[in-house]
Amino acid sequence: MTASATGSARFLIVGPQGSGKGTQGVLVAEAFGIPAVSTGDVFRENISGGTELGERVKSIVEAGDLVPDELTSELVRDRLSQPDARAGFLLDGYPRNQGQLDDLDAFLMSRGEALDAVIELIVPRDESISRLRRRAIEQGRTDDTEEVIANRLSIYERETAPILGVYRDRGVVAEIDGVGSLDEVTARIFDALAARGFSPEADAAASA
Ligand code: ADP
Repeated sequence: MTASATGSARFLIVGPQGSGKGTQGVLVAEAFGIPAVSTGDVFRENISGGTELGERVKSIVEAGDLVPDELTSELVRDRLSQPDARAGFLLDGYPRNQGQLDDLDAFLMSRGEALDAVIELIVPRDESISRLRRRAIEQGRTDDTEEVIANRLSIYERETAPILGVYRDRGVVAEIDGVGSLDEVTARIFDALAARGFSPEADAAASA
């Protein structure tokens, strides 16, 4: 099973656009054998698949605005109710504001659960903007235009950064310097999780 005193690995990764949270989140989830749940990925898959959900959120995502909390929280609750997320999961991109944090708290509390660790990737604004410009050229994401990037970053600073204060008060935030090579940042994340009693090695040993 999982690698901690509590026997669970419920993580959240938070960072500004271009901080590498998607990439790092997948690496952490793979190492711990838990599902990575990215709301942005779910929305993009639904948009490209032309589903009803995709139709509903397309213009919102393309403008870089937030999909309504009610819809997003329901989607996350459904995903976290799947059997593979019982002992652990890594949330990427949710919660993003106080309302979603409250929704997640209510859901987890109803199951007697809580987040075990919140990984905060710290990347200066200039650095994240230059990474996003590069990604815009490489990946052609429709929400990586200058105007939409500015909107997403300002929503991050206004609505998402403040929720870190709530988690900080709970003592679960691991602050990670997100500047460096991909491997360097990954190593910092694993060190910080290990310092909190979470390690994939113990995980593998326990399930062997
Ligand atoms: P980024 O962090 O680079 O903005 P994401 O893939 O996390 O990229 O999100 C892409 C878009 O999906 C967001 O701009 C927003 O429109 C929508 N989205 C993702 N997560 C949420 C969320 N928790 N609440 C509302 N909208 C969301």
